[in-house]
Amino acid sequence: YSGKKQVHSVGDEMIGMQVGDFQSTPAVVTEHSSVYDAICQMFLQDVGTLFVVDEKACLTGVLSRKDLLRTSIGNTELEKIPVHVIMTRMPNIVYCHKKDTLLSAARKMIDKQIDSLPVIGTATEGLEVVGRITKTNITAAFLTLAQDHEL
Ligand code: ADP
Repeated sequence: YSGKKQVHSVGDEMIGMQVGDFQSTPAVVTEHSSVYDAICQMFLQDVGTLFVVDEKACLTGVLSRKDLLRTSIGNTELEKIPVHVIMTRMPNIVYCHKKDTLLSAARKMIDKQIDSLPVIGTATEGLEVVGRITKTNITAAFLTLAQDHEL
């Protein structure tokens, strides 16, 4: 007897999967951090994307691997460049909420050709970063689905 398999179809389970159940911990840096520090944080926290926050801890930007690589080519003074100069900034940031379906988050990533989305809290005003959804989280969810249905 396998309870889940009897109760839900693959489609029903997929629709029920929420961002909050599959999200990872966000890695953040502040706007005045240097590009050099951001590169160090990307390695230390083992992430591919960093979220940038202001002094109120509200989301203001996103830094990808390629954003940092682009700036590093032929630039020897990475300690002197603040990340707010090179980041992708609001209002251009695509984000999601814990209660959103994982399917809608996957769609946003594919449509915008990005690797991750910040998860934003709904309790407070401003954009508080409470999580991170990446293509890896989506792949893990895909496997959970296969396992639950013994595929
Ligand atoms: P990479 O640049 O390393 O391939 P991405 O594909 O995630 O990584 O990023 C592509 C571009 O989109 C980068 O310039 C990055 O700043 C931006 N970006 C990444 N995530 C988001 C997001 N959630 N919303 C808006 N822009 C983003």
